[in-house]
Amino acid sequence: MKVIFKRTIFLTIIALIVFTLVTSSGTRHHILSQSNQNSDNCVIVDSLGDRKQSSQRCTNIPKNITSSTTYFNSERKLTGKLRFLAAITDKLLTIPQSGTYEYTLLRAYGAAFVNQDPEIKLPTKVILNNEQETQDFQATLTMAKVNDSYDCYLQKAAADALNRAKAQVIIPLKSGYGDSDCTRSFTTTVRFWRKYANDKTLARVRQGEETKILGTVAPPGSSQHLWGIAIDLRVSNEVQKQALNRNGWFRTVENDIPHWTYVGYPPEKLSEFGFKNKVVSGVSYWLTPL
Ligand SMILES: [Zn+2]
Repeated sequence: MKVIFKRTIFLTIIALIVFTLVTSSGTRHHILSQSNQNSDNCVIVDSLGDRKQSSQRCTNIPKNITSSTTYFNSERKLTGKLRFLAAITDKLLTIPQSGTYEYTLLRAYGAAFVNQDPEIKLPTKVILNNEQETQDFQATLTMAKVNDSYDCYLQKAAADALNRAKAQVIIPLKSGYGDSDCTRSFTTTVRFWRKYANDKTLARVRQGEETKILGTVAPPGSSQHLWGIAIDLRVSNEVQKQALNRNGWFRTVENDIPHWTYVGYPPEKLSEFGFKNKVVSGVSYWLTPL
């Protein structure tokens, strides 16, 4: 009888231990599920409106995410899109909502917004509305001349980086005219747009029905050339390309072969920001993950 009683107590204790283990495992699993749920919420941040909303949904993302390489390595579940948006969130007044005209422009031309160099200035929105707005923005820039050019000016940090690449290998401008290859006025972007497209094309782009034109010409006010961090070049070999890439210059606009953007980082860093490397007809582009 005594033996049976002892065995009953022993079995009860074992049962209690097993029950406790199973329960705690279940709780842990539940917490992990919640954590995954949070990550999932963050992934849809692009469809949300402003920064306030996104930071509320993505409470597990540190604000200074871009300054922490170790964070990128440890949080593999963050999608490229999320990493890109986290890097640019402080640059724009509002992160455009998915499906809008502004979002289309951000996807096509927003690569430079990941640049964290305080010397590089970018507008706080993806469209400059007129010549006056463009001039007001350009008046805030510190510009420098590109070597071996007559009138090609870029933001100084971008020009310095390009000049370092040009010190390694000859890289000619596309047309040779600085006001079209390099930094442009608002009027020039309108003139170029009308050369290849018209109001109907613009309406179709705004409706999200047309995107191919964006690789030929940027809609008025949306060109990276307005920002002093883009240039059109004649690049025909790998040595030129490597020199540009190593100095932070990349092709970031799909199908716009002569167009180069100063992103300001080496190629390996672009992957951390979520950029997608895409090769089209043998030409390598680094595209935003939007
Ligand atoms: Zn261009």
